[in-house]
Amino acid sequence: NKNLSVKNEGIAPSMTLAITAKAKKMIADGENVISFGVGEPDFKTPENIRKAAIEAIESGRTGYTAAAGLPKLKEAICEKLKKDNDLDYTPENIVVSNGAKHSLCNTFQAICNPGDEVIVAVPYWVSYPELVKLADANPVFVETLEENDFKYTKESLLEAINDKTKAILLNSPNNPTGTVYTEEELREIAEIAVENNIYIIADEIYEKLIYDGKHVSIASFGEKIKDLTIVINGMSKGYAMTGWRIGYVAAHKKIAKIMTNIQSHATSNPNTIAQYASIEGLTGSQESINEMVKAFAERRNYMVEKINSINNLSCRKPKGAFYVMINISELFGKEFNGVKILNSMELAEYLLNTVKVAAIPGAAFGSDNYIRLSYATSLENIKEGLNRIEKAVQL
Ligand code: PLP
Repeated sequence: NKNLSVKNEGIAPSMTLAITAKAKKMIADGENVISFGVGEPDFKTPENIRKAAIEAIESGRTGYTAAAGLPKLKEAICEKLKKDNDLDYTPENIVVSNGAKHSLCNTFQAICNPGDEVIVAVPYWVSYPELVKLADANPVFVETLEENDFKYTKESLLEAINDKTKAILLNSPNNPTGTVYTEEELREIAEIAVENNIYIIADEIYEKLIYDGKHVSIASFGEKIKDLTIVINGMSKGYAMTGWRIGYVAAHKKIAKIMTNIQSHATSNPNTIAQYASIEGLTGSQESINEMVKAFAERRNYMVEKINSINNLSCRKPKGAFYVMINISELFGKEFNGVKILNSMELAEYLLNTVKVAAIPGAAFGSDNYIRLSYATSLENIKEGLNRIEKAVQL
């Protein structure tokens, strides 16, 4: 046998997908599983968006588009960035891709050289380190603390920065922690980036899902930081459009151009019908977002209160996205129903096997003291699921 790609053989499979896949199989086999693993809104894509897609199909707007997206969609994205984020971009700054994950992948390919370092906060979204490695760069992990709401501090960033540092990954609202940076904190990070001439990759995919505080884009603090920021956003989370696969980037035109060229060879344009639907999503009524946010906020409040009432479990109140990180460190070394729990993976397996609850082990995010529960599921499921967890971790 010939050797396979050494670099790509080392890419880890997505641990979050592995647990959800196992839970899905159990459900398909007829088992009554409550899944807290999901990373997508449990809402239907809004009707106006669905209709726009059907209209595109019926009227034959189904051919290729420009590789980086329809000019009309790029314009709608520019308008959105102005209206929501006070950012001035023109279509040449925009690249539309197959989901924000693809936008991130293109970003690292466009800015990284072998040996470059990208700073990643721990706990991290599972794909960040692997996407950095795919671009021959190295993730540099900066531990964040629960008591500090899992945020970068000035000191932790300065300590991690060196001559090889190419970019800082900033995800607010955050997956998996739900943390949202304040404007003041973002200004401090922007200052560090400008002083050290480092890019900021601002993953703002959960922008619309905020329950306390407000979203501010770090790129909005002036021309210098705007030139260094690559804004990542998309339709998946805010518009309940995960399967449509539309994400986008706003960046300096030189970066956007490289990304466009890469994409023109790798994938061509993202799905044309989904692009037309996204124009409607961005320019049509935004009412459905409010309804979704209301439901998420209610679930979050219930969940946080219940978790903190359970012996040996605790969590902080997340401000955005739809995840709660439960601190499980008090469980370690204890035995439940004959099973000794020593780490997050063992707890996730124990919960799935004994009470049929799927949760994502914190190890997947680089933080073994936690499990992540998603509240993108009904309040009824949340109540039942947390009752099961409570039972499972009683001595
Ligand atoms: N960024 C973060 C932090 C995410 O949690 C996700 C999805 O789970 C994405 C990006 C990618 O979203 P998509 O590729 O569906 O646009």
